[in-house]
Amino acid sequence: MGRLYSKTMVTDLIEIRRLGEKKRAENESFRKHLKRHDFVERNLRHIAEEIEGQIDCTQCANCCRVATVRLLERDITKMAKSMRIPPQKFIQQYCDETPDEGYILKRTETGCTFLSGNLCSIYEDRPSMCHDFPHLVRGAGSIPSRMWEMIDRATYCPIVYNSLEAFKVETRFFEKSRQLK
Ligand code: SF4
Ligand code: SF4
Repeated sequence: MGRLYSKTMVTDLIEIRRLGEKKRAENESFRKHLKRHDFVERNLRHIAEEIEGQIDCTQCANCCRVATVRLLERDITKMAKSMRIPPQKFIQQYCDETPDEGYILKRTETGCTFLSGNLCSIYEDRPSMCHDFPHLVRGAGSIPSRMWEMIDRATYCPIVYNSLEAFKVETRFFEKSRQLK
């Protein structure tokens, strides 16, 4: 199965940005298609797993450059503990507080404050949002319930972009869209 995807896989980040933006409307229709039709969730997760297994995140790190990292209280506790500083000090040094998202990790001009080159300097203790990212294989709820975030992620994450393209084939999105016309 892996080899099947690797032939058509897009990993160039400039191309991902171009295609993800171009397909925003199509991906929005696909999100609705997933809500309206029955499909086997397990198969979609399996496809995403296959694709995730073929992409080397250490060569990409684009999510660490682009995405905001929302923090749970337990993330702050864990990271502060690993740095041997009180949670309040961790918040002062490494977090920003936002009205909509609560505490988020601070960012520099190049992305997350903990990004070093293409690697995470706190990898073992990274926040749960980073651990589960891009939330196709891991994460709470069904894939359709998380699809609203995937349209944006498909513009910067190769795992998401390629998974959505493979999901469209698996769920016969193009055939069913044609039938509606
Ligand atoms: S904490 Fe680590 S994995 Fe998460 S965004 Fe920052 S650098 Fe990336
Ligand atoms: S999760 Fe996506 S954006 Fe992040 S490093 Fe992996 S492929 Fe790149």
